[in-house]
Amino acid sequence: MPIFADSARLGHESIHHFHDPESGLKAIIAIHSTALGPAAGGCRMWHYSDEDDALTDALRLSRGMTYKNAMAGLPLGGGKAVILADPQQPPSAQLFHAFGRCIATLGGRYITAEDVGVSVQNMRQVKQITNYVAGLPPTRGNAGGDPSPWTADGIFLGIEAAVRHRLGRSSVDGLRVAVQGVGKVGYDLCRQLRAAGASLVTCDVNAQNAARTHTDFAAEVVSPEQILAQDVDVIAPCALGAVLNAESIPQISASVIAGAANNQLACEQDGQRLHDRNILYAPDYVINAGGIISVSLEYTGNKTTADTRAQIALIPQRLADIFTTADKSRQPTNVVADSMAEHIVAAGRPTPATATGTP
Ligand code: NAD
Repeated sequence: MPIFADSARLGHESIHHFHDPESGLKAIIAIHSTALGPAAGGCRMWHYSDEDDALTDALRLSRGMTYKNAMAGLPLGGGKAVILADPQQPPSAQLFHAFGRCIATLGGRYITAEDVGVSVQNMRQVKQITNYVAGLPPTRGNAGGDPSPWTADGIFLGIEAAVRHRLGRSSVDGLRVAVQGVGKVGYDLCRQLRAAGASLVTCDVNAQNAARTHTDFAAEVVSPEQILAQDVDVIAPCALGAVLNAESIPQISASVIAGAANNQLACEQDGQRLHDRNILYAPDYVINAGGIISVSLEYTGNKTTADTRAQIALIPQRLADIFTTADKSRQPTNVVADSMAEHIVAAGRPTPATATGTP
């Protein structure tokens, strides 16, 4: 991969490769921007098909974090770590200690937390080495802990905002929602959607995860290949990225796409494809900011779960502003969101989160 060309195109400040033969750690930390504060973003552990694949993921995810943190009004830049998982070797404490040492060498320019494949326990192991980590078990009433339930809260509120805008509905009651990937965020989202009266269609490559949504929430389980083509009102992608692409978009009959996965659009033109099909897309890094809001409040300290809840409650208004601007300017929502985020980063200071909210 042409590393310098790609990182220059996406505007990265630096990219760090780490290898610790003793623990087997192979990791990449990509720092996209520290314009608004230290680069914050989770650590993903994944079995990548090759090293280029891992680097591409780190570059795209870290850039997304810059935009996400900016739009959430956080005093944080954007970064991301990926650990190249070895399927033969289960992750060990030794590996996460080595990862902690890698983070420490960056002297606070990068702050980590959980992402796909990484647990609270793993973050505790990192914490034994360095303080540049969040997503740790909170003490009573304090902000923090596993970011996933907070992300799910934001997605649920964001879906409500999207159906209000596109379908004129005040709630999801009576709507049919497809949830792609029912892991930590997707499962919790299903719980909230079901409690609010939606009926569910789910899928997961992990059959046990999918079956659990049938047992617990009466979800109709379909195969991963069928999920995007379901006759539903809303699709919530909550698995991995690039699921919205030239091939999949023509199959979609839902009028709203609003979910947790990062980098849902395979490329920027896919936003235009959705716009052309009159499908309302909630930009992923805006709707899925609940987790990083929790991480940020935990890291900066002296904040409570009530503070986290209050900041997450601003996500629907942010989305509504994007939807309205997109309608007026006849632009795809991803283009509108990118331009708002770039504006905030260029100004070099976070736009504080407020109840009226438009960054
Ligand atoms: P997770 O690993 O707990 O869940 C992902 C689920 O998707 C798993 O059950 C997995 O088996 C399933 N899956 C993987 N590939 C699939 C496919 N092709 N089709 C169907 N299912 C598939 O991860 P999570 O923490 O729930 O995160 C879900 C997504 O949301 C990820 O893209 C993550 O980056 C993003 N996200 C998560 C958070 C958070 O707080 N956890 C925050 C922001 C964004």
